[in-house]
Amino acid sequence: MASTESWPSPPRPRSGEIRRDDVFGRCVLFSPARSRRPSDFKSRSPASSSSNPNSKPFCAFCAGHESECAPEIFRFPAGSLDDWKIRVIENLYPALSRDAEHSPSTADGPDAVMPGKYSLTGFGFHDVVIETPDHSVRLPDLSPEEIAQVLLAHKQRILQLACLESIKYVQVFKNYGASAGASMAHSHSQIVGLPLVPPLVSTRLDSMKKFYDMTGKCSLCEVLSNDLLVAETVHYFAIVPFAASYAFEVWIVPRGHTVHFHEIDHEKAVDLGGLLKVVLQKLSKQLNDPPYNFMIQAAPPDLPSSCAPSVHWFLQIVPHLSVTGGFEIGTGCFINPVFPEDAAKVLREVDGSR
Ligand code: AMP
Ligand code: ZN
Ligand code: ZN
Repeated sequence: MASTESWPSPPRPRSGEIRRDDVFGRCVLFSPARSRRPSDFKSRSPASSSSNPNSKPFCAFCAGHESECAPEIFRFPAGSLDDWKIRVIENLYPALSRDAEHSPSTADGPDAVMPGKYSLTGFGFHDVVIETPDHSVRLPDLSPEEIAQVLLAHKQRILQLACLESIKYVQVFKNYGASAGASMAHSHSQIVGLPLVPPLVSTRLDSMKKFYDMTGKCSLCEVLSNDLLVAETVHYFAIVPFAASYAFEVWIVPRGHTVHFHEIDHEKAVDLGGLLKVVLQKLSKQLNDPPYNFMIQAAPPDLPSSCAPSVHWFLQIVPHLSVTGGFEIGTGCFINPVFPEDAAKVLREVDGSR
């Protein structure tokens, strides 16, 4: 049952603002004329209504159906039999093929694909992480230690892919709920190894470097403020970013400068697992189990050392509460109808434990 006690009511009158997101290097419009009470943002199509895990009669990701899946890459615990907890498998319908011939490019980023008639082959890796053997268990139902093992599976696969000369970036992401792109209800995440650094990643790295060159500071080391705080632990804090592109977007950020996600150790993974669980439960309670995506916004494995002072990884959680319209597609600017300080207050005040 979602709590309604903590909604600020009514929203305080404000003038409009255009805020700059120094991490993604984009502008976000906050318009009082379009502002609604944060309570108006409760999801009208909760993920549980589109993908009720209990209503699915057959699922290839369930324990006992391993033979219906594409080949396994590894499992946790290693050497477990039918008592596995996590399986990392190849994607049966991959966006990129590990069997395609790799066409090396002399450039990274968008320039890796030349203008005009040239293209790269569809080489790459697309894997699935089955986060639990149990169909009815969602990620935040797992314990911090169990979520830590999912994160450590992400780390292990990133390290495997990062060893390959051909792989320039590894994207970890999760789709939860049909309108966030999930086709499978069983709790899972995905890992894509790309033969190039994607444009949005290059823009993020450039934007963080620009901030550093102008201020002498890392944009994420400087980002924490009490108004934006959602929850915190020993090693991480969760905030609604100052220029959030999406209503109730949350970033989980390592305290202290940390370039690479894949350097996470077990203790930090448990700490992060606990915070991720709390944030997902807060979003679910306050916003009626919204569909969401999360993305590990990482650094390329072979990040030039000149970028190390400015690049800081984080985990971005984006609930799906409204659709992206023509203005956003046309301009790359976003309109967010909920001021980040209001969204943070709503999330801060709800209990994130079960
Ligand atoms: P999503 O669409 O976000 O729910 O991600 C689920 C992914 O699992 C999709 O990319 C599918 O291609 C993939 N998939 C579906 N069935 C199987 C299967 N039996 N074995 C391996 N991957 C699968
Ligand atoms: Zn299942
Ligand atoms: Zn930093």
